[in-house]
Amino acid sequence: MRTKPAVLDLIVATGFVAALMAGCAPPDSAPEPEVGSSFGTTPGSGGALLFQGARLILGDGNVIEDGALLVEGDRILSVGRTGEVSAPVGATSIDLAGKTVIPALIDAHAHLGYERYTSWGSQNYSRENLIDHLDRYAYYGFGAVFSAGSDPDDLAIELQQAQRDGDVDGARFLFAAGMAPPGQGPNNQFLRHALAIADETGMTVLRGAATEAEGRAHVREVAAKEIPFIKIWVDDRGGSQEKLEPAIYRAIIDEARDSDIEVIVHQQTAQDMPDLLEAGVAGFLHGRLGPTLDDQLAAQIRDSGAFLVPNLGLGELRRERVGADPFLQEATPPAVAARLRESFDALGVGAGASRAAAAASQRERELSDAFSRLVDAGVDIVLGTDAGAVPDHFFGYTGHRELEIFVRLGMTPMQAIIAATSRPAERLGLADTGTLAPGQMADFVILDTNPLEDIRNTQSISRVFLRGREVDRTRLRRLWTGQD
Ligand SMILES: [Zn+2]
Repeated sequence: MRTKPAVLDLIVATGFVAALMAGCAPPDSAPEPEVGSSFGTTPGSGGALLFQGARLILGDGNVIEDGALLVEGDRILSVGRTGEVSAPVGATSIDLAGKTVIPALIDAHAHLGYERYTSWGSQNYSRENLIDHLDRYAYYGFGAVFSAGSDPDDLAIELQQAQRDGDVDGARFLFAAGMAPPGQGPNNQFLRHALAIADETGMTVLRGAATEAEGRAHVREVAAKEIPFIKIWVDDRGGSQEKLEPAIYRAIIDEARDSDIEVIVHQQTAQDMPDLLEAGVAGFLHGRLGPTLDDQLAAQIRDSGAFLVPNLGLGELRRERVGADPFLQEATPPAVAARLRESFDALGVGAGASRAAAAASQRERELSDAFSRLVDAGVDIVLGTDAGAVPDHFFGYTGHRELEIFVRLGMTPMQAIIAATSRPAERLGLADTGTLAPGQMADFVILDTNPLEDIRNTQSISRVFLRGREVDRTRLRRLWTGQD
């Protein structure tokens, strides 16, 4: 049980939270998200629900054809073949013949709060906007999302508690405390906005460690707040920032181990990875794939039990006309989708297309070689998108696109689904989600078509259930697009 820290009451009492919310008026054209009402009413709400006849992809590598899933309250009671799962009297039966059910997906790398679809930055950061982002994940079939080191921690703790109390819907919100050299952290644009939020709210967003002692003191502070994750930025962002020195990250990781805190690293080059693994990091966000990620390093990652989030869509999707994708359009204001199309067209990619294609095929070979090396070595690859870290890299949508990339580079669809469900659940300490199994939270997605045949079928979302209740996707779509 986590208890609400006393400091939060103080903050609420002194009006910091109110000030934070008041300071973030939405731009005129942005639809105002409604709070805490993304769930619709489910037929037989309150009674048991028996879903029958669907292919069940359990998230752990197993499949049940013609399966049945019994849900009561927020939990899955049983999972088996249709006809073999008996329902209690009064249960509502739901026919899912021809459909496929997968566990709700999990995005293990995102940055919530800054994106508002019409603009990006600290001015958008508010509790309401965080909840809107959790609703966007829920809409796209995500049951949890990990915001990596860019949130004001007391607000994030309060939101988690409100969600545990059942007052906030949407995907489950997880976050890490961010740590870097003083005044450093995310990319320079992002950093400016993260520092602005800290300034405006008086809350901590990033903790700067100049010495080993400071690093250890920060970890103890994070432990006192019962935040189970620390994100550290180690590399120098292409020379634009100071590196986090090995002695300091070693001290942070060592101190974190004593408090059962997992340390996750932003690291864009293979260079520091061996030492970080020796120091005991839990995983890498941006395991930059390329020739430097060789067999030896892949084996070391596997043997240390660390995971890796390849984060490939972040670079790739901006070279695509995503504004024309109906799957993006269904949860995006039409004007925003139009802006994305126009800004893509303005790049004039037609001109250098053949040179770009040649470079892309070389890059593609390197990528798929590196990716296959990791998969073959048995490294735990986890879905993460970095959605929200830069403008127009949208929540939920990008997760499905990342799965497409995983399969294109060599995973089977089943491996990709595992990387997006049970594996991130394990890595993020979510024992009650990520698989379809008795006792698990009823977090699942009903698909019209089978993603084992084509991973893009994860996009054929029919219905989403989180904590046993159906997400009202129609209402959310209207809210965001003004259309049905
Ligand atoms: Zn990130």
